Amino acid sequence: LIVLGIETSCDDTAAAVVRGNGEILSQVVSSQADLLVKYGGVAPKMAEEAHSQAIDLVVKEALNKANLTERDLSAVAVTVGPGLSLCLRVGVAESSENCWSLQSAHCWCSPHGGSCFSSQHLDRKTQVNYYILLIERDLQFPFLALLISGGHNLLVLAHNLGHYTQLGTTIDDAIGEAFDKTAKWLGLDMRRSGGPAVEELALEGDAESVKFSTPMQQHKDCNFSYAGLKTQVRLAIESRNIDAKIPISSTSSQERNSRANVAASFQRVAVLHLEERCERAIGWALKIEPSIKHLVVSGGVASNKYVRTQLEQVVKKNSLQLVCPPPCLCTDNGVMVAWTGVEHFCVGRFDPPPPANEPEDFVFDLRPRWPLGEEYAEGRSDAR
Ligand code: ATP
Repeated sequence: LIVLGIETSCDDTAAAVVRGNGEILSQVVSSQADLLVKYGGVAPKMAEEAHSQAIDLVVKEALNKANLTERDLSAVAVTVGPGLSLCLRVGVAESSENCWSLQSAHCWCSPHGGSCFSSQHLDRKTQVNYYILLIERDLQFPFLALLISGGHNLLVLAHNLGHYTQLGTTIDDAIGEAFDKTAKWLGLDMRRSGGPAVEELALEGDAESVKFSTPMQQHKDCNFSYAGLKTQVRLAIESRNIDAKIPISSTSSQERNSRANVAASFQRVAVLHLEERCERAIGWALKIEPSIKHLVVSGGVASNKYVRTQLEQVVKKNSLQLVCPPPCLCTDNGVMVAWTGVEHFCVGRFDPPPPANEPEDFVFDLRPRWPLGEEYAEGRSDAR
């Protein structure tokens, strides 16, 4: 079984080829980092154009690196949501074309079973966990999963493939968005996204020096909020007269120190919020599934070393183990799509290729918004 995975849900055009035994044959990502810097975030129309320009080359390169031709593929998996519809369309069109010419099975992304072969974006991110399941053979369902990225903050209990209970989500911004804005306001180099730049600068700062309050202290649930912390950071930066237009590389050592203190203090509180929510979620998860042994963390922010160290302590206290994907699989990538495809294919969740005579007109229901799993009742009743 060999599956090509295609990912275009947001700002990275990615493709990968994975074997049914979990071997990654190739992985290619074309980043839109320059556009992010130019437009100060993801501009859907620009992102769509960039995907359209990159997609053929990315897929070809993935096949070349895997030393395969399209004819060797058993199936093609593609993300259909959630994400930006304009961008999702590019990946779906590409996968349709591939499936049609190959007559291989089609891996639409659907989390809820049915006739689709592939998974939704969030399912895919937790699919990295299934990939880990392969590398680290002792990871078994059920497990608790934390997804921390630019667009999502999610705590879900994964009972089984495609069967999740949502314990918490963000009520406004996700943690990655807070890292990105902090980086921007501190005048950091955004070419490789804000998170790594803040993490690096935070190493030089005093994490106790700026007093930020931890979000949602009065809410005894597992939801997240980063909008208020973002505002606190912006005000702290303004009150220190930090000018984002002056890149950190051109500042005095005193000014650099001031920026590092904000970065470190922000990171400490942002991660403390994660720790508190995970601690509570572990309690809830153990009530529902007493056999859970792992907290699996995925999404771009999972590559942050401070996040990993702090969450390690939380899981140890609760006699669980922390599982994180390698950093290259933390952000958007084709491997997680391809691997989701493998999983769904193996249990018969896939579609035949689109009609050969009219692949262009083949319509698939994109799901720009697509919640993952049912919401846990305690999450609703115990909110304050
Ligand atoms: P989603 O796919 O969930 O809609 P996304 O495409 O932004 O959102 P990812 O590609 O998984 O998500 O992650 C990108 C985010 O991860 C960015 O916000 C980035 O700043 C953050 N990030 C990456 N590395 C780090 C790091 N070392 N520390 C903190 N944040 C990081």
